[in-house]
Amino acid sequence: MNAPLIDPFARAINYLRLSVTDRCDFRCVYCMSETMTFLPKKDLLTLEELDRMCSTFIGMGVKKLRITGGEPLVRRDILKFFKGMTRHLDSGDLEELTLTTNGSQLEKHAADLYAAGVRRINVSLDTLDEDKFAKITRWGRLPQVLRGIDAAQAVGLKVKINAVALKGFNEDELFTMAAWCAARDVDLTFIEVMPMGDLGNEDRIGQFWSLKDLRKTLENQFTLTDLPDRTGGPARYVRIEETGQRIGFITPLSHNFCESCNRVRITCTGEIYTCLGQEGHADLRGPLRSSESNSPLEEAIRAAISNKPKGHDFDYSRQKVDGQVNRHMSHTGG
Ligand code: SAM
Ligand code: SF4
Repeated sequence: MNAPLIDPFARAINYLRLSVTDRCDFRCVYCMSETMTFLPKKDLLTLEELDRMCSTFIGMGVKKLRITGGEPLVRRDILKFFKGMTRHLDSGDLEELTLTTNGSQLEKHAADLYAAGVRRINVSLDTLDEDKFAKITRWGRLPQVLRGIDAAQAVGLKVKINAVALKGFNEDELFTMAAWCAARDVDLTFIEVMPMGDLGNEDRIGQFWSLKDLRKTLENQFTLTDLPDRTGGPARYVRIEETGQRIGFITPLSHNFCESCNRVRITCTGEIYTCLGQEGHADLRGPLRSSESNSPLEEAIRAAISNKPKGHDFDYSRQKVDGQVNRHMSHTGG
């Protein structure tokens, strides 16, 4: 076993988020433009390379692996990759294999994901209104996603809904979404919209609905208790005393969470980003392809982690978007 991955701020890196494609069957307005240009397929890591990359990180102490994208389930034969990771779950080296998905392909893949060892998934869902769903995702259709969530729950996958909080868009659905999730026994987490990518005419400050405000709205109706639950990430949780429901808040902007960061991200082309909110990255595809031995890759991983920054610079407080990263979430993987 290799020495564990520790960054310069003494944070142990044990969580890897891997984007397996930049492509998607939706075009969410806060994530992609309608006319996205995708990477040539030859630039993407092959399924075998994705396996080698993850296996190397697992050998260096990564315990949790989250697959994302783009939409991970639109990548051809991606279930082969998931099935390959099962061996690391079986050996105990990997503790959790999970994914973030828009849910469109879940009906087809839920059973195979469960068979591969996936137990929990995050499904992104910003609204329960069909027309609004079509508007925000441009190409997505709500009934397909709801069937996917049904299929996931039917095979025993634990579902968490991630909803991006958007001013003037889903503010009016706060209570209905919470009640819908409680009735279906799925967790619910709200995410603040982040200044990712350059979408031209989108008004990002206008869209920004602070989760502090969202919380206040919930408190008008319910008593909230802060929970100590932590996942090493940006999520913070409260319990609604009247119903017992747990609600999560991911607040990269109004609250800084970097001190406990335990994760790195790999893009579908094999670049490592050690901070979602910074441009700093390093190429791992070159070292991976340069040799059949994993040594050059391991060296490049250690070098990248020794440069992991202390934190990000996102800041909306001065009424202009500071710290903007000119990169799409679908590239780095959300
Ligand atoms: N396609 C999958 C999905 O939608 O779940 C996985 C990739 S997507 C980039 C991951 C998450 O990033 C989604 O929950 C999405 O809502 C979120 N996201 C995308 N752009 C965002 C932005 N500008 N601000 C905040 N969250 C964003
Ligand atoms: Fe696709 Fe997910 Fe981005 Fe929406 S948020 S466009 S589903 S990658």
